[in-house]
Amino acid sequence: MSTGASVKPVPFLIGGEWIGDTSSSIQHINPATGKVNYEVCAGTEAHIDAAVETAHKAAANPAWRDMLPHKRALLLNRIADLMMERSDLLARCQMVENGKVWKECKNQVINGAATFRYCAAAIETLESEITPPRGNYLSMTVYEPWGVVAAITPWNSPITLASNKIAAALAAGNGVVHKPSPFTPTCGLEMGRIALDAGVPPGVLNVVPGEGSKTGEALVTHPLVRMISFTGGTKVGRRISEVAGRKIIPAVLELGGKSPHIIFADANLKAAADAATVAIFEGTGQSCTAGSRLFVERKVYDEVLSMIMERARGLRVDLPDAPGAQLGPSASFPQREFVESMVEGARKEGAEILMGGSRPSDPRLANGAFYLPTIVTGITNKSYIAQQEIFGPVLCAMPFDDEDDLIQKANDCSYGLASGIWTADYKRIWRVARALEAGIVWINTYKQFSTAAPFGGFKDSGLGREKGLQGIRTYQQAKSLFWGLSDTFDGGFSIAK
Ligand code: NAD
Repeated sequence: MSTGASVKPVPFLIGGEWIGDTSSSIQHINPATGKVNYEVCAGTEAHIDAAVETAHKAAANPAWRDMLPHKRALLLNRIADLMMERSDLLARCQMVENGKVWKECKNQVINGAATFRYCAAAIETLESEITPPRGNYLSMTVYEPWGVVAAITPWNSPITLASNKIAAALAAGNGVVHKPSPFTPTCGLEMGRIALDAGVPPGVLNVVPGEGSKTGEALVTHPLVRMISFTGGTKVGRRISEVAGRKIIPAVLELGGKSPHIIFADANLKAAADAATVAIFEGTGQSCTAGSRLFVERKVYDEVLSMIMERARGLRVDLPDAPGAQLGPSASFPQREFVESMVEGARKEGAEILMGGSRPSDPRLANGAFYLPTIVTGITNKSYIAQQEIFGPVLCAMPFDDEDDLIQKANDCSYGLASGIWTADYKRIWRVARALEAGIVWINTYKQFSTAAPFGGFKDSGLGREKGLQGIRTYQQAKSLFWGLSDTFDGGFSIAK
């Protein structure tokens, strides 16, 4: 794949074939430079139909369906090897498309490969169960794939999020149609190429980029799609949930967040300030788990805010491939406009913009979608800016008085993805961690991720879990077998169990 200016539009992958149909296409703009990267072919309804039919056939083929777990594990490990071999290419695809800095892109490839290795190890060792009988029979539970999985991803971390879905769905024995975001189409395409080169049978993994309202809709509503794995915003998540409900198929939904990051006065304030800075500004704030609502105990509020400001001032906003760059641009120009409109709205409502709140003045960055690290204060937890996901480098900081006040405020939000607590009091940690309505609680740390730990949100942040062993079972359905051991029939209602 060429990631520089290319003449031919980038084709997509169906049934092991590269389809260069330009009847619909995406012009991709580099958010760091404003220049056109390339044209990418986008899938129409007919392409989605072909992709799903192909995945359906491939998933039903005994060569894939009945493949022994250790052989499937070999394929997943080969994918991981190829991801590492092609890590520069994959990282570059992401960097030119969403503007994340080079180091983060490279690390996301390494972590994506690790996810394939984890799923390989897990599927080779996961066991079926013999369950306790209540009569003269043997009862077992086995786990089977759903069939065709629609894997839909957003633009902020395409390699990580596609790896989570594809690795687990393939480990579980499904066929997959992956629709990447139109803002980050080529990482998924390269992963499709890698899977083919690794020996995954053609048709098992198909990758078709396109707009959500067309390509995405055609995919999730297709009758042969039997499971949807969606990561994206809550609004689209609701739509996916409606479609899944109507079709009576499962949907795992990884949605938005507005995560409370909590600092008590007895915490290690230096470490907490370091973490609070990274938690919101890493990835230019474009992370679903960003610590975007900062709650600091009132008696250390000013002190902690000055510490964070000092750290934020030292962050290097630069072109994503500049050595030492820490924040790249927003992933697209419309996204920066949205961030700007949120900060301007808050300013008009009387918020104080402690720092940032504008584009950088550096002329080298003038053509990109850059925005400075921003801290907003003088708001309450009820303020619009404190309640809505911004997905930009904007920290909403608020004081709290005591534990009850904090828990009430932290939970007073429709989202419930992640959270963080900093305190030296281990009893308080237990109380607060259990009271927080969030799928993740980081304690005296933040943004630690493990492919072995279930990941997902409470409330409007989603439904279901990816990652960990649970995350593989998400892509399977349970089947119970009852195996009679009597020479006469002793089942039915007449027997009390
Ligand atoms: P989005 O919801 O607009 O789009 C996500 C994906 O869904 C894209 O591929 C899009 O094309 C597709 N889509 C849109 N409409 C569709 C439809 N009707 N049917 C099928 N597919 C459709 O989100 P985005 O703007 O790309 O990404 C940002 C959002 O993703 C943020 O809200 C962020 O919090 C969320 N996110 C969540 C997690 C998590 O794990 N919880 C991780 C990363 C990002």
